[in-house]
Amino acid sequence: MPIQDVALICLNGHMINQSSIKNPENNTQYCETCGQRNISKCIECGSFIRGEIHYDGVFDWDEIKPPSYCHECGKPYPWTTERIKALIEMVEYSKLNAADKKEFVDNIEIIASDNPRTSLAAIKIKSIGKKLAGGLWNDVAKPLIVEIASETAKKSMGL
Ligand SMILES: [Zn+2]
Ligand SMILES: [Zn+2]
Repeated sequence: MPIQDVALICLNGHMINQSSIKNPENNTQYCETCGQRNISKCIECGSFIRGEIHYDGVFDWDEIKPPSYCHECGKPYPWTTERIKALIEMVEYSKLNAADKKEFVDNIEIIASDNPRTSLAAIKIKSIGKKLAGGLWNDVAKPLIVEIASETAKKSMGL
């Protein structure tokens, strides 16, 4: 029977240990990449964060991505919130006009999940992205968007 393991992830979203039950020797309190605290439970509802699934007789080697939202309460995990905040800060800092800034802020969270508006929101974000200075889009926005965007959103954006 497949066994759902628990993931240990730092507050900034670095995967510390995707099999914290099976391989507890790799568990640490803090992230060695960024120094943030590591969590294995949702800070909103206390549910364990899903890690790797172990199958009988199958060698574990797949790297999994930290989930964006809690599967029990639906709240964004801290790393999702932080990335969205960073994206909003980026667009506020940019030279875009007020209408574009508002459209970006209104749509950025929608691309983090799959819902009926995801693709449209992704297209809007992409077209606003084209108006950003190259460095802001390529070095700041794109890497954050790749981390938060759902598969549907990434497809719509060609990422
Ligand atoms: Zn970290
Ligand atoms: Zn939760």
